[in-house]
Amino acid sequence: MSYQPSKERYQHMEYRRCGHSGLKLSAFSLGLWHNFGHVNNYENSRQLIHTAFDAGITHFDLANNYGPPPGSAEENFGKILKQDLQDYRDELIISSKAGYTMWEGPYGDWGSKKYLVSSLDQSLRRMQLEYVDIFYHHRPDPETPLEETMSALDLIVRQGKALYVGVSNYRPAEAAKAFAILKQLGTPCIIHQPKYSMFERWVEDGLLDLLEKEGVGCIPFSPLAQGLLTDKYLHGIPADSRVATSGIFLKESHITPERIEKISKLNAIAQQRGQKLAQMALAWLLQNKRVTSVLIGASKPEQITDSIQALSNTSFSEAELAAIETILQT
Ligand code: NDP
Repeated sequence: MSYQPSKERYQHMEYRRCGHSGLKLSAFSLGLWHNFGHVNNYENSRQLIHTAFDAGITHFDLANNYGPPPGSAEENFGKILKQDLQDYRDELIISSKAGYTMWEGPYGDWGSKKYLVSSLDQSLRRMQLEYVDIFYHHRPDPETPLEETMSALDLIVRQGKALYVGVSNYRPAEAAKAFAILKQLGTPCIIHQPKYSMFERWVEDGLLDLLEKEGVGCIPFSPLAQGLLTDKYLHGIPADSRVATSGIFLKESHITPERIEKISKLNAIAQQRGQKLAQMALAWLLQNKRVTSVLIGASKPEQITDSIQALSNTSFSEAELAAIETILQT
């Protein structure tokens, strides 16, 4: 069936400026880490993209290694673009990354110029694109000089293969150095992609302050802690959940009685607010103006529709914030 995007797609989404750049991102972005590989149902992956785009999500986040097998999420996304979104390239912000193991030998991992340039060329071929909008270094490399990694990002922009660059998983000190090098090269870093959710707070220890000071946007990944910050695990492990279907990054062992107790208490606060827990967890991130966009994942189209309803209530009273904090800190 041919796809026609919704004519109302820009009416309900919020768009936030990414740091001090000229780029605005939808308050929600969709990540293709899970549910887009060759192991997944292609028609479902396609529906996820349609649902997101129809809801005003303009930003789709990939990486060289997403699948499984690695590379297959980019291949499938390229196929969906060709099939359904050919005429909409200029309404899309597509990102990819390199930094984790992608191919054998010394040039398929970490942060050398050799790896980053070749990897982006491969990503572009897989997605059948001429350029990506944002290209990230996926994780810091303790051995390659930061100057080399950052000059690879600068080169990629000058070659026209990416419009903007970002870093992911960089701690504050190394992020500050990376931003300074990129600024000097004339290709400012516009975005940082850290893990950030109610259950993962390291960014509050210096990173958010740095991003604000440097005018760099923040796009938290795994904002639902891979699905833990929903009501789905309150009564066991559903057969269609990430723990049951994948179980590699989110494992049964993560669902401890202590965790369930916290989730249950958070769920009660969400209910008092008239929200589902997933919506409250996302709203909690979005109430922070330093957050540009939250990078969600989804296994079913309804989850996207459900999650973006968080936008209808992103304000919290002092009492609600304090109650949430008490639960998270105990
Ligand atoms: P989330 O924390 O949003 O978890 C997504 C999962 O939660 C879904 O696949 C689904 O799992 C469940 N879920 C989502 N919405 C709902 C809902 N409304 N109700 C109930 N369950 C829901 O994000 P991810 O961990 O998937 O990460 C998002 C993106 O972040 C990735 O796709 C990737 O782009 C990026 N990322 C970046 C990393 C980096 O190093 N830079 C590392 C990891 C991710 P289920 O299968 O149980 O239905």
